[in-house]
Amino acid sequence: MSEDSIFSKIIRGEIPAQKLYEDEGVIAILDINPLSEGHTLVIPKEPASTMDELSDDSAAALGRALPRICRAIMMATGATSTNILQNNGKSAGQEVDHVHVHVIPRFADRSSGAGLSKTWTPGKLNADEGADLGRKIARLL
Ligand code: AMP
Repeated sequence: MSEDSIFSKIIRGEIPAQKLYEDEGVIAILDINPLSEGHTLVIPKEPASTMDELSDDSAAALGRALPRICRAIMMATGATSTNILQNNGKSAGQEVDHVHVHVIPRFADRSSGAGLSKTWTPGKLNADEGADLGRKIARLL
């Protein structure tokens, strides 16, 4: 649990943030170190550290708020696209120990782009291994 995280303190109003949205389940704030104009964090109020710890109700609140927040950011900034990014756990680069979703606006007409680049180096799924792994995960759901 992450009741001492900086985001829990923002949710409780103990430290300031540029708040864009709040409902009973989530808040949305501007990222203090934006990768692009309008970079926003959508944060469940539940003090879960990582997505796998989040309750269904908080996950639903997060999912419900995201499209509306994306639309508002795009309209306000003129962004043409967004990246939705969620770092989940230390080995995935998560720095703040409280679930949050990044909404990172992208701009077709800005040559500077965002401070984010997509450098995926994909492999190829082996059909047999994929079938085994797929069944193994599906059994746990
Ligand atoms: P992550 O690496 O996914 O944990 O990202 C944490 C994000 O939180 C970074 O983009 C930080 O810039 C942002 N952040 C940290 N502290 C604050 C704060 N007080 N207000 C707004 N954003 C913050």
